[in-house]
Amino acid sequence: MFNDWKPVIGLEIHAQLNTKSKIFCNDSTEFGKGDNQNISPVSLGMPGALPVVNKMAIENSIKTGLALNSEIRRKSVFSRKNYFYPDLPKGYQISQFDEPICEGGFVEFYVDDEKVRVGITRAHMEEDAGKSTHHGDYSLINLNRAGIPLLEIVSEPDIKSPAHAAEYARTIRQILKYLDVCDGNLEEGSLRCDCNVSVMKKDATEYGTRVEIKNINSFRFVEKAIEYEISRQIEVIESGGEIFQETRLFDSTKNKTYSMRKKEQAHDYRFFPDPDLLPVIISEEWIDRVKSTLPELPKDMAERFQSEYKIPKYDALVLTQEKALAEYFEDVAKESGNAKSASNWVMVELQRELNDKKLSIEKSPISSSRLAELIKLIDGKVISGKIAKKVFGIMLTEDKNPDVIVKEQGLVQISDSGAIEKMVDDVIAASPNQVEQYKAGKDKLFGYFVGQIMKASKGQANPEMINKLLKEKLK
Ligand code: ADP
Ligand code: MG
Repeated sequence: MFNDWKPVIGLEIHAQLNTKSKIFCNDSTEFGKGDNQNISPVSLGMPGALPVVNKMAIENSIKTGLALNSEIRRKSVFSRKNYFYPDLPKGYQISQFDEPICEGGFVEFYVDDEKVRVGITRAHMEEDAGKSTHHGDYSLINLNRAGIPLLEIVSEPDIKSPAHAAEYARTIRQILKYLDVCDGNLEEGSLRCDCNVSVMKKDATEYGTRVEIKNINSFRFVEKAIEYEISRQIEVIESGGEIFQETRLFDSTKNKTYSMRKKEQAHDYRFFPDPDLLPVIISEEWIDRVKSTLPELPKDMAERFQSEYKIPKYDALVLTQEKALAEYFEDVAKESGNAKSASNWVMVELQRELNDKKLSIEKSPISSSRLAELIKLIDGKVISGKIAKKVFGIMLTEDKNPDVIVKEQGLVQISDSGAIEKMVDDVIAASPNQVEQYKAGKDKLFGYFVGQIMKASKGQANPEMINKLLKEKLK
């Protein structure tokens, strides 16, 4: 029965913008301060307190809009969205309604090998609300978060599967982090995701009724929640029921969504332009200036890495997941002159260590230039790849250049043919049975001899020379 249906998915992503002060006053935005430490009459919604818009919040929104291929409105308007909730002391949220700062646009990303494009409807600025915590028969309110600038990025209902939805959200986060407009920290709530989901018959021409799943704070849960919701809706409809427009929450322990509140009819927020705030007028010069400061975006960087450094698409996508990682790779590739090797060392050995120690690339114990030096030692045949792993291990804990470690530990590759020939002879002399079997056709044993010689040389003998000499001697 599932085969007759297709899902329709649209995401709303709320990103807290990286500004030092709030969007309409100069309270600090620092996370984790004591309760109600970052407040003032404006955050508290005191009568007569007047908002003044934060220029950085606008600049960061312009940056994001440009990166999302949006049209930046030269004039945008702040409106009041009226509703009552204890963590909203003014009785309204300042948001943007019919004239948002960014309109239209799209993002592109890969899912497996498929290039996916998702349309952006709009992105608008608004203020965050405070936070309530509930304790038995009373609740507490912390207004530190009230007034933190948010950019709400609304997608078109273009997303075709739960996996695409999760990848879309990851891509938005990646772009925001590249732009340095949002720290993307999901645990601290810097990025929050609402998922709108409906289902329709494959041959239908109209969308079904949508349900909104609110405040999901992990990309894996985005995927799980949507998956659950799609099958729930299909089952309800197939068994003769009806989907109501409602807000649901996701329970990650049960892997289910449940109803939070039904939307009886569309909520009437009585939007109107905020008379305390002037329209935001953005000049061409401002947009041009922001354009000129835009960094290279992850997708462009991944494409450039493939063409400039001839590394596979997979490598390019992994390496550009984070800007600092991409820059680290590029430094190693440039300095070592061996991009594929640079990519392998960064993606495999270095990433493993960083993951184990939960370190960011900025805290890497090995600098990019030292890793490049190590690669040069391999390519210059000073050490073998195997010894290089040992040197790498030492570099993780000792603050030394790889060539110093190689000298100190006597790890230079043995390429002296006399010395290697002696090792080959010794191993052959010590293994008469294996020699006999090899000569009788058991080719596999070649590896055994190589292994023994390597062992005798403590891994330092030049492998190409071992192969060559061994072949001659065993003929
Ligand atoms: P609201 O302000 O009530 O949340 P919006 O018009 O801003 O409504 O839409 C919110 C999100 O819902 C958008 O991301 C949009 O793509 C998505 N959406 C709209 N219609 C549907 C639908 N039928 N099924 C799934 N998603 C939808
Ligand atoms: Mg909504």
